[in-house]
Amino acid sequence: MLRKIRLTAALLFFTMITLLFLDFTGTMHSWFGWMAKIQFLPAVLALNAGVVIALVLLTLLLGRVYCSVICPLGVFQDIISWFSGKVKKNRFRYSPAVSWLRYGILAVFVIALVAGVVSLAALFAPYSAYGRIVSNLLAPLYQWGNNLLALWAERADSYAFYSVDIWVKGVSTLIVAVATVVVLFILAWRGGRTYCNTICPVGTVLGFLSRYSYFKPVIDTDKCNGCGLCARNCKSSCINPKAHEIDYSRCVACMDCLGKCRQNAIRYVPGAMLPKKQAPVTEETGKPASQPSSPAEKVDASRRNFLTVSALVAASAVAKARKRKWTEDWLLL
Ligand code: SF4
Ligand code: SF4
Ligand code: SF4
Repeated sequence: MLRKIRLTAALLFFTMITLLFLDFTGTMHSWFGWMAKIQFLPAVLALNAGVVIALVLLTLLLGRVYCSVICPLGVFQDIISWFSGKVKKNRFRYSPAVSWLRYGILAVFVIALVAGVVSLAALFAPYSAYGRIVSNLLAPLYQWGNNLLALWAERADSYAFYSVDIWVKGVSTLIVAVATVVVLFILAWRGGRTYCNTICPVGTVLGFLSRYSYFKPVIDTDKCNGCGLCARNCKSSCINPKAHEIDYSRCVACMDCLGKCRQNAIRYVPGAMLPKKQAPVTEETGKPASQPSSPAEKVDASRRNFLTVSALVAASAVAKARKRKWTEDWLLL
């Protein structure tokens, strides 16, 4: 049931946001423009504190629902991954988090923001990446289809459609859009949410928060027989069935694993209901996140906190200074 609700909401958001990028009449914006305003990074850059706080609270309550429902780039990857699943079933397996890459890219992203290198930051920004794909690759086809309809309608003495000019942006923009699709396609086809859990800076920030989310998928160790079916169907590769552990920083709250378990051993419940031995774990060590046991782990945890907070602070500071220019540049990329 939870999975069906998530899927329905995700498809609704994905369709409407895609139409927002395609619509040239302005009709969609008057009805569904709010969906663009609740995207995480645009909200941070626009200093929309209400939306940012709401998304942070949503993540702290339900986990990375933003990533499984609201972000169109995440749903886009799910669609590619779904087709891949038709070719090869049960294809995922647990893999440890690549934290140095996640936080390294987050650092590069923050530096690019601070330095005002918009084109580099936009490469990693999920909403910008999705907009680039739709605006450059899908919009010309959409407009061409519209013009065809307008031609037919005109011959039938109807003016229900009208022709529009078809604009194709420069070669470099087109190349970046094609490269974005190719990279996303390969990563999603082979590894589900690899992009989300190793590259996307928004995913890294939300992943940091979601480790402490109130609701989360929990493995009942009394029922679990360690068969691994849930892990082979987890697009985030974040279930370690041998240790009965889930890396909540990478879990995107998709609910896919819930229905896969034949023992009914996974439930989406308040984390407080976790048995003691299954307390939330750190990404690499497998030890409770709240009790780092060695100095190295403490340093690592501090570094993560620092980078994550820095990302938000820097993004906000830069946005304040460049707000107007940002909005224009960001949408153009
Ligand atoms: S990790 Fe990034 S790209 Fe993936 S769903 Fe979340 S915000 Fe979107
Ligand atoms: S599918 Fe169920 S029984 Fe099998 S490893 Fe996962 S939680 Fe355990
Ligand atoms: S652990 Fe379950 S809910 Fe989380 S990403 Fe994996 S399949 Fe989805």
